Amino acid sequence: MALIVQKFGGSSVSDAEKIKHVAARILQTQAQGNDVCVVVSAMGDTTDDLVDLADSVSSKRDSREMDMLLTAGERISMSVLAMAIQEQGGKAKSFTGYQAGISTDSDHGSARIWKIEPVRIREALKAGEVAIVAGFQGFSFETGDVTTLGRGGSDTTAVALASALNADVCEIYSDVDGVYTADPRIVPRARKLAQIDIESMLELSSSGAKILYIRAVEFARRHGVPLRVRSTFSADSGTLVYTTKPGDEMEEPVVSGVTTDDTQSKITIIGLPDIPGKAAEVFQIVAEAGVNIDMIVQNSSSQDTQLSDISITLPHSERPKVVEALRSKQAEVGFEGVSYDDEIGKLSIVGAGMKTSSGVSAKLFGALARAGINIEMISTSEIRVSVITRASQLKDATRAVHTAFELDAADTAIIYAGTGR
Ligand code: ADP
Ligand code: ASP
Ligand code: MG
Repeated sequence: MALIVQKFGGSSVSDAEKIKHVAARILQTQAQGNDVCVVVSAMGDTTDDLVDLADSVSSKRDSREMDMLLTAGERISMSVLAMAIQEQGGKAKSFTGYQAGISTDSDHGSARIWKIEPVRIREALKAGEVAIVAGFQGFSFETGDVTTLGRGGSDTTAVALASALNADVCEIYSDVDGVYTADPRIVPRARKLAQIDIESMLELSSSGAKILYIRAVEFARRHGVPLRVRSTFSADSGTLVYTTKPGDEMEEPVVSGVTTDDTQSKITIIGLPDIPGKAAEVFQIVAEAGVNIDMIVQNSSSQDTQLSDISITLPHSERPKVVEALRSKQAEVGFEGVSYDDEIGKLSIVGAGMKTSSGVSAKLFGALARAGINIEMISTSEIRVSVITRASQLKDATRAVHTAFELDAADTAIIYAGTGR
């Protein structure tokens, strides 16, 4: 008898028919002799709709009230799912993040889990019930207020609960058969991976593959939680995300996947004096704005002027406040100006085998050159190479690179549900 945590994403519970299907699937797992703890997301695009609703009455998005609002989405799906299970003859009970004992810090909209004491979940499981927990929510141990864990955070709830309950496996159910070599909505011939090492999965998630939320992967790595990504709508065994390599001696693939990210902007600080301390002043301003930057590139200064340019990339949503902060300190720091560009796209290739293999960058840049795509910035880690291109060319670039690394499958990937929003 195993304890299984199953998480169903918004696309898996987007209407009554799908919720009934999920209920049947859960009962099947239970009938095979397992204890089942379920984590659900809000139905379909409910969370986005709630954000739009807030925007229609307020320009501020008060963070405490936003969390109160957004957590309502998961309360709907968890209770409806519990009733669907009961209707099919099973026993089920739903729990909010608070009732499941998930306490967090007070960082509304992006709270971090502090502790999980799933007393009521254990009780429900002991009583033979399916315990259904609302994803993506907790409560602040400091203020008692309701918090959310960041968009896509139901994955984190599932992994954290699996760890707290010492579950045998955490299964993430979505609208595709597993983790693919690229987003199948962009690359139709993306190939499903039977397994992937957790380090590569972390890089895929952090560079734009939204199939798994980065914080969930981080949590799984830190606590050794076995993860499997599967489809709600097929019997496919999905993708195993492993911390310790299972059995076989196969080498890691050089490139496991290609990701895209069109949510970034570029800011360039123009004409910065090329003397010690100036870059530090610039990054101090960015840090004070509370922004996490992704890439940094400095152009070498020209001999006559001794001035250089620094470009950074960061999330779209943070761009206005950073530009404003930099402009307010322009005279003080002594640079010539600030420009920005919201039309950039980031493409990354990720693979654990890159560490020990040469020619990867040459192949990447060759493929982009043949497709007529200009590279504007480059950054690398041990197992990732990322480039900035025009946003309008990002999809073509992804398909060209996917083909160049021989990742194309014979058949088209199936997308069972969801809107991709
Ligand atoms: P859910 O509703 O289950 O939370 P999400 O929309 O958050 O689903 O994530 C699933 C989607 O992630 C897929 O439909 C797919 O378009 C997208 N995706 C992006 N990159 C990948 C990838 N490498 N492998 C699989 N899916 C991916
Ligand atoms: N419903 C939340 C969101 O849309 C959390 C999740 O689905 O993981 O971001
Ligand atoms: Mg998701």
